[in-house]
Amino acid sequence: MRIVLLGPPGAGKGTQAKRLAERLSLPHISTGDILRQNVKDATALGKEAKDYMERGLLVPDELMSKMLLERFSQSDIKKGFILDGYPRNFSQAQTLEEIFKQKNLDVDMVVYLDSSDSVIIQRLSGRLVCSVCGANFHIRNMPPKNKGVCDKCQGALFQRSDDREETIKKRLEVYKNEVSSLIKYYQDKKKLYRLAADGDAGLVLEEIIALTKKIA
Ligand SMILES: [Zn+2]
Repeated sequence: MRIVLLGPPGAGKGTQAKRLAERLSLPHISTGDILRQNVKDATALGKEAKDYMERGLLVPDELMSKMLLERFSQSDIKKGFILDGYPRNFSQAQTLEEIFKQKNLDVDMVVYLDSSDSVIIQRLSGRLVCSVCGANFHIRNMPPKNKGVCDKCQGALFQRSDDREETIKKRLEVYKNEVSSLIKYYQDKKKLYRLAADGDAGLVLEEIIALTKKIA
């Protein structure tokens, strides 16, 4: 089963992708993790990416797509995968299709996690991210065992500057503008499934699992 998870920031893509990957015994592929791993392993692509990051710049699409191509060349994705965090816009969707073509892969389902703005703002404005391993916590919904410290690696937790309320609203605007063409793209391919994702994360997960059984 090859699944792509889409949704606005704060809709719970990362959480759902991780749990889904565990339940279906499939690798969880996230662009954030690929980037961190490449930087950590000091691969040629990772070094190039680090250079951009150290200058406070976004990693260019072209570099990210090379890392994705490399990731989709590994053998653990043969049985399927859960991809989250990519694509974010139409041009990335086309890049992904190119990569899949090269690797003889196709997507089985694209799940769009639909969340209301108020829920997203509540979720994101309380989010804490580990500065070392990237794990997510939440001040109210999922607090770390020790304040300010990551449960998994003891790294320091911080609030991303773009998780402040006024920036979240701007991010949502940008996302909505970009995702509409993406939704249409996958709708036309008859791959898109929309799910309401405001509710309990466990229930949303069960709904995704039910969908995978339906299309399997
Ligand atoms: Zn950590």
